[in-house]
Amino acid sequence: MSGIREVIILGSGPAGYTAALYAARANLKPLVFTGLQPGGQLTITTDVENYPGFPKGILGPELMDLFREQVARFGTELIDAPVEKVDFSKRPFTVWSDGKSFQAKSVIVATGASALLLGLPSEQKYMGFGVSACATCDGFFYKGKRVIVVGGGDTAMEEATYLTRFCPEVIVVHRRDTLRASKIMQERALANPRIRFLWNTEVAEIFGNDGGKVTGVKLRDTQSGDVIEMAIDGVFVAIGHKPNTDFLAGQLPLDPKGYVLVKPGSSYTPIEGVFAAGDVHDAVYRQAVTAAGTGCMAAIDAERWLEAQAHANPAATPNQATAPTH
Ligand code: FAD
Ligand code: NAP
Repeated sequence: MSGIREVIILGSGPAGYTAALYAARANLKPLVFTGLQPGGQLTITTDVENYPGFPKGILGPELMDLFREQVARFGTELIDAPVEKVDFSKRPFTVWSDGKSFQAKSVIVATGASALLLGLPSEQKYMGFGVSACATCDGFFYKGKRVIVVGGGDTAMEEATYLTRFCPEVIVVHRRDTLRASKIMQERALANPRIRFLWNTEVAEIFGNDGGKVTGVKLRDTQSGDVIEMAIDGVFVAIGHKPNTDFLAGQLPLDPKGYVLVKPGSSYTPIEGVFAAGDVHDAVYRQAVTAAGTGCMAAIDAERWLEAQAHANPAATPNQATAPTH
């Protein structure tokens, strides 16, 4: 049997696992590299209340264990390692992991994105217990509470505005005295009576109680260096996201922020035979359900593309793969 696979999937968040589920059920025998965070971003959160099918909510790590179990049931091969390098310049495509190379006729990139964080040890300690990087995901848990949002861009304005649905007071903590956000988003946030701004201020420390919940922050004035303490219930870090695409540089066209480009309404990247799903190409929605949805799209797109290739070259063996047509 040839060592060239039908499809290799990079990533094991909702997008990668869903792509694997569909690819496996289409008999494509997918190989998934799970990366350094098997299960993806949801493994670092607690309750997920907006993933359909779980009316009582479900813990993030538990949900991703279920994804993995379902994927394994249909015979997906999983390697718990990241891919360090790819060659998309010719087909079959090659990916390298842990010093070994693997080849496939098609690749689905589902390596997600990482929320940029402040880098405080206390931020890690309370992640999911008062610290969040996603208001849409966690805002509901802060009904009637006082929270801060860190950042001065569109994401921070959007998150702060969204949180006022639940919170009587939302304090935006920004390290400068002018916002980076677009005019319209600024105006909306500045006009919202539930939002207060703390300018020239950064979070120096997050602290909590014995139960492991956030109770307050230390804030530092970036100009005077003065530090004050403030009691709050939640910290929403909204300082941007970074797609996990460094290892793709030079191999796959990316937008200026590093997101994979796809043909609108599809998972097709500009490289024929390479597909993308989930947060790695989505700077807008960034939800588990949208990631899973686009994972499904990528597997179906890959399956149909492979089928079309087989019809176009019925005699081709995997070792005689056609050259890219673009
Ligand atoms: P990810 O989940 O980011 O998974 C990416 C995968 O790629 C990981 O498995 C990683 O190991 C792998 N990877 C990375 N680099 C490589 C590489 N080089 N080689 C191989 N693999 C690689 N969304 C909701 O809908 N509801 C919520 O309640 C919710 N809560 C959240 C709470 C937190 C704290 C965070 C951070 C996010 C939350 N989200 C929530 C957003 C949601 O987690 C993401 O939208 C979703 O996980 C994106 O899925 P994905 O598969 O695209 O990527
Ligand atoms: P962004 O525009 O890069 O803004 C990040 C903000 O976080 C900046 O204000 C920055 O401060 C601050 N910041 C960065 N690192 C920090 C740190 N270590 N400590 C404290 N503050 C820090 O990111 P974004 O807001 O996520 O937006 C990303 C892109 O998505 C933008 O193009 C944006 O327009 C777009 N977007 C659009 C919408 C919308 O239109 N509805 C919504 C969300 C996002 P400085 O200003 O001092 O650099």
